[in-house]
Amino acid sequence: MDIVGKKAAVVTGGAKGIGRAIALKLAEDGFNIVVNYRSSLNSVEKVIDEIRERGSEAIAVQGDVSIFEDAKNIMKQAVDTFGRIDVLVNNAGITRDGLILRMKEEDFDKVIEVNLKGAFNCIRHVSPIMVKQRSGKIISISSVVGVTGNAGQVNYSAAKAGIIGITKSTARELASRGINVNAVAPGFIKTDMTEVLSDKVKDTTLNNIPLKKFGNAEDVANVVAFLASPSADYVTGQVINVDGGMVM
Ligand code: NAD
Repeated sequence: MDIVGKKAAVVTGGAKGIGRAIALKLAEDGFNIVVNYRSSLNSVEKVIDEIRERGSEAIAVQGDVSIFEDAKNIMKQAVDTFGRIDVLVNNAGITRDGLILRMKEEDFDKVIEVNLKGAFNCIRHVSPIMVKQRSGKIISISSVVGVTGNAGQVNYSAAKAGIIGITKSTARELASRGINVNAVAPGFIKTDMTEVLSDKVKDTTLNNIPLKKFGNAEDVANVVAFLASPSADYVTGQVINVDGGMVM
């Protein structure tokens, strides 16, 4: 296994969509990768092969980021295999959309558990490892709706706004230990998550994007890769929008 001299990155929810694109881009940039997945074993095996084709090593670690002990195990497997964690990307996320007048309590709780508590769980368990190393980069995927709000997404926008709060607080706590903490806020990116939206929602959204196109998973991955690189060593506590100008 080619693990000597390479940095290691953990990507949660890395079997498809934006997470997969991030895992592949970081592999191209020379990181060994821990790909966390919840259930899609077939997809994650494909991603592992694609990472190896790019000359990096990879392992798949099953785990639900909303479970504290699962998040601990993901970090443990990473350190056991690669000896270090240089980058954590909190990408795992779900939606359960609905208007506030009708939203079920369980749909609120589930979205907060996965998107917000999941990010907390992973940051909580990676922090001691990075503090010991006196280096590290933590990058969490928020959303522009965490800044603007969005009708039908009280749960999701609250979770994504919460990620911004966690990012800024953690950035302040860990800066003196050589750890950078940032968030990326995508707009509308073409993945399974947005595929299910109606044509009406897609048309309205497109009208509000100055660049007049939806983003690709690679557009987000490129910004994450920048934040993971030494080029961003002086960047911390920031939220970078990747949204074609939707929010400015
Ligand atoms: P996606 O549904 O294609 O991928 C989400 C991934 O997260 C999947 O691999 C899924 O298995 C994984 N996941 C879900 N719950 C998990 C859990 N409990 N534990 C571990 N993994 C879990 O969606 P995507 O569009 O690729 O979204 C990736 C991230 O980007 C999410 O955080 C999402 O909220 C965010 N985002 C997406 C968009 C967009 O337009 N697609 C916009 C803004 C933010």
